[in-house]
Amino acid sequence: MRKRRLLWQLFPAYLAIVIVSLAAIVWYATDAMRSFYHEQMANSLHARSALIANQFIDRLRQSQYAAVDSLCKELGKRSSTRITVILPSGKVVGDTEENPAVMDNHADRPEIKAALVGGSGRSVRYSHTLGIDMMYVAVPLRHRGRLLGVLRCSVGLASIGQAMYATYWRIILSALIVALLVAIGSLLISRWISRHLEVMKRGVQAYADGDLSRRLDIPDSAELAGLAEAFNQMARQLDSRIGTITRQRNEREAILASMAEGLLAVDSDEKIISINRATAQMFDITVEESEGRLVQEIFRNTALQDFVTHTLASSIPVEEEIILPKRANRVLKVTGTALQDTDGVRLGAVMVFNDVTEMRRLETLRKDFVANVSHELKTPITSIKGFVETLLDGAIDQPEDARRFLQTVARHVDRLNLIIEDLLFLSRLEQDPTAEHVRLQPGELAEVVSGAVEACRPKAAEKNINLAVECPPGLQAMINAPLLEQAMINLVDNAIKYSGPGNRVELTVRQGDGGPEIAVRDWGAGISPKHLPRLFERFYRVDQARSRALGGTGLGLAIVKHIAGVHGGRVEVVSAPGEGSTFTLSLTRANSSPQTNLS
Ligand code: ADP
Repeated sequence: MRKRRLLWQLFPAYLAIVIVSLAAIVWYATDAMRSFYHEQMANSLHARSALIANQFIDRLRQSQYAAVDSLCKELGKRSSTRITVILPSGKVVGDTEENPAVMDNHADRPEIKAALVGGSGRSVRYSHTLGIDMMYVAVPLRHRGRLLGVLRCSVGLASIGQAMYATYWRIILSALIVALLVAIGSLLISRWISRHLEVMKRGVQAYADGDLSRRLDIPDSAELAGLAEAFNQMARQLDSRIGTITRQRNEREAILASMAEGLLAVDSDEKIISINRATAQMFDITVEESEGRLVQEIFRNTALQDFVTHTLASSIPVEEEIILPKRANRVLKVTGTALQDTDGVRLGAVMVFNDVTEMRRLETLRKDFVANVSHELKTPITSIKGFVETLLDGAIDQPEDARRFLQTVARHVDRLNLIIEDLLFLSRLEQDPTAEHVRLQPGELAEVVSGAVEACRPKAAEKNINLAVECPPGLQAMINAPLLEQAMINLVDNAIKYSGPGNRVELTVRQGDGGPEIAVRDWGAGISPKHLPRLFERFYRVDQARSRALGGTGLGLAIVKHIAGVHGGRVEVVSAPGEGSTFTLSLTRANSSPQTNLS
């Protein structure tokens, strides 16, 4: 609905008050004026009656009624007054205007009645004879106490009425002027109020639009000044409260956003109250799209949906693991607890997500490792036990067999020893990355290469394998020489082991883009692509029996990988079955911090 302007609310009310007041004043004033005029007129008629009464008394005493009538006519003309003389019987005997003979009996006229009983009578009424309002004043005419008749003087009230009408018009004109002044006054007042209110409205509108730094000007009038101050106070308080709330919200959001753990808070209807960035990333959604929506709408993971429902229904904290099939089966450990306000009223539930994929992977690796180690150790021990029991069962008494069995036992013990040495070596690499035995120093690569080649030459010679070496002289790097030599020995040893007799093995060192690269190439059996991703895991072998038969522990490449890690580098393999393999150990130029892991 369209609102009326302040002017149109004030003006009619003011005008109504003024008109009612003026009407009351006019009514009162005219009434008083009329009474005053009538009183004045009555007094004047009394005076005139008193002046002429005696002249009529004389004539009435002598019953000279014709003389009475002519006196009425003569005095009446002179004083512009209608004079009438009436006998006590009511019979008119003289009149200024009419012939008394034709006039009615006047005994019933109110003023005559009053005069006949001894007083003076007065009456105002319409005269049918003259056709105007008349004022009549009648006085008794007495001689020595005897009532001779009644003298009545009367005048028309028309002249009084005219004088009164002029006054009425003047009053109405003044009323109109006052109404105009009231209109102008209300216009000015309402304009003045409106202007201040308009200024205030603009200021308050700015508050509504969020600009709380603005302050309203304080007007002169006490009420408006109070209002403006109240608004300013409100703006100050709102500004400070909003500031506090915004700061707290930013702090809370910063804390939530920096948490590595995912956090999700929902209300009792499973509507998302709060969600942090970590959770959003885990489920491939965004914080913005999630807040205020239902869990079912946002999370496509049914396990999580069920977990939220379960947590809301549970009175104790609940825990579960959730798999994310869309994110390479990552494993999330999720803990759900009730969300309560400060009075302990339950509002919903809070879920905390921890990505335990790496932990689970390490656990699996550890378990596999223990199983593998046990298996690796068990095989030689079972053989040793078998031979020892055979010896105890009597074979010891046959020197030939006893010797053979003991040699086999010794070979198994050597193998056990080899495995244990490799395991200890690996665990030393893992234990302390800053320890002396893994420290890097500037060193000449050619020296390391020649050491490794010297160690491998006998084996190469055994298989008639040509071991070719290429290393630029003077190539320096930050290295741990004994470890790097061990890595090269392992790679060259494998190349010899898995190549046929008379084959060729190359060891090449060159300066690559990122740092020195050591490549060991052979033209042996090669490796199928399906084995390549797991090749550097402990105890992983392409062919168990063959590896064992060749005296391998299954730990050689794992050791190479760790040594590469100690040098801040990495080891890679390119291989195809029947075409041979190339293992490349890259050392980074800066040889950044060593990295180790269990694989
Ligand atoms: P192992 O002691 O059995 O040689 P490694 O860790 O050194 O253990 O090697 C793991 C497996 O990788 C070997 O069992 C073998 O199957 C394969 N392998 C390693 N080097 C070569 C190579 N040069 N050619 C073919 N296969 C290889």
